[in-house]
Amino acid sequence: MKTIAIIGAGAAGMMACATICESDLHGNIFLIDKNSDIGQKVLLTGGGRCNLTTGLTDIKEILKRYPRGAKFLKYAMYEFSPEKARKWFLDHKLRTKVEDDMRVFPASDKSMDVISVFMKIFDKHKVKMLMSNEVLSVKKVRDGFELDLQDRKLLTVNKMILAAGGGSYEIAQSFGHTITKLVPSLSALKLADPMDLAGVTVKKAGLRLRYGTDKYEYEGPFVFTHSGISGPAIFALSALAAYADFDDKNPAKLFIDFAPDLSREDVLQDIKNEISSSPKKDFANTLAKFVPKSATSKFKGKNAAVGKNEINKSVEFIKNCEFAVIGRAGGNEFVTAGGISLDEVDPKTMESKICHGLYFGGEVLDIDGVTGGFNLQAAWATGRIAGVSAVN
Ligand SMILES: Cc1cc2nc3c(=O)[nH]c(=O)nc-3n(C[C@H](O)[C@H](O)[C@H](O)COP(=O)(O)OP(=O)(O)OC[C@H]3O[C@@H](n4cnc5c(N)ncnc54)[C@H](O)[C@@H]3O)c2cc1C
Repeated sequence: MKTIAIIGAGAAGMMACATICESDLHGNIFLIDKNSDIGQKVLLTGGGRCNLTTGLTDIKEILKRYPRGAKFLKYAMYEFSPEKARKWFLDHKLRTKVEDDMRVFPASDKSMDVISVFMKIFDKHKVKMLMSNEVLSVKKVRDGFELDLQDRKLLTVNKMILAAGGGSYEIAQSFGHTITKLVPSLSALKLADPMDLAGVTVKKAGLRLRYGTDKYEYEGPFVFTHSGISGPAIFALSALAAYADFDDKNPAKLFIDFAPDLSREDVLQDIKNEISSSPKKDFANTLAKFVPKSATSKFKGKNAAVGKNEINKSVEFIKNCEFAVIGRAGGNEFVTAGGISLDEVDPKTMESKICHGLYFGGEVLDIDGVTGGFNLQAAWATGRIAGVSAVN
């Protein structure tokens, strides 16, 4: 009889455990978490609605949403794609819906319904749930692993899946694994001068961040806040630049293109046309076609009175508005960039290349995605592969 322990009952651990339950394993499955209940973080995701995956179907496009780990994820993503994940949840009676921005949520908008899927599976298959129990350390023994638990018991198992999220890296380290540099990803950005634009939203902009010789680009929606700038495109940009250590002494430069679909020449011509057709219109209102109205107030006077210099300045403002970025602020989704080095893990099995019988899944690996369901999708996919492999 085979015994398997899964450390961490988050998204990856739950999916690994469910996969093992639904295999033909004859043995015991232990699901261990230091929290009192399974899926505590999943419950918080998507503002309590759980953006569980993406509605995108082109795997190549999907993989572009992972600043780190895309190549490693390729196999898992084809094996358990967002479409397959949604089908799996549907087979377990969880209907999902795709919103306009391609984020996928439970049709009920309740993250608890995602967790209920797993609870039913674990009940049915009599998983041994060791909750409120931290795994303090693990050592390799002859036929497997010996886990030292917080409740002072020792648990011996044949195989082990480490799905401990952005923590408990020391367990992987104790088996010789390397942990890459850990930094927060998906953050908002603090600006030296947020220009009193708090609350102003922009539906689509081109964003370029420059720090030293490094350049990062992303396009999408964002919002100005009291301290800076936030929203999906900013989270993605901050993820791309997760390792750039800018601060108030060494700021990064952010250039915003408020009209990414128009060339500089088109914007200039458009403004000139508007000036000649509506000379009495406020110049600020003319520019409001391209930038949020509240951002144009520094441009004074009527169209007729505006000179060439001012027009050129306005085009620069629309196409290349520069801000100094002096730090990061909390986002609405927090993910750790960095983790177990992917060179040391087999992408087709999630098994450690260093220690036979040890598997990984989820955020504990050096994989992170942008917002939009990509992080949970990576957790489901890697957890699934780890579960399948641990049974074989
Ligand atoms: C507020 C918030 C909102 C988010 N929203 C979204 C979203 O809408 N869509 C999306 O795709 N992603 C979202 N994310 C990211 C997503 O939640 C994570 O990427 C995902 O949960 C990672 O899953 P995981 O299983 O790898 O880790 P986790 O979910 O973190 O689970 C790891 C588990 O391991 C346990 N554990 C750790 N060490 C031990 C130990 N030694 N012993 C026992 N147990 C241990 C922890 O208690 C935890 O329960 C959000 C994150 C946050 C913080």
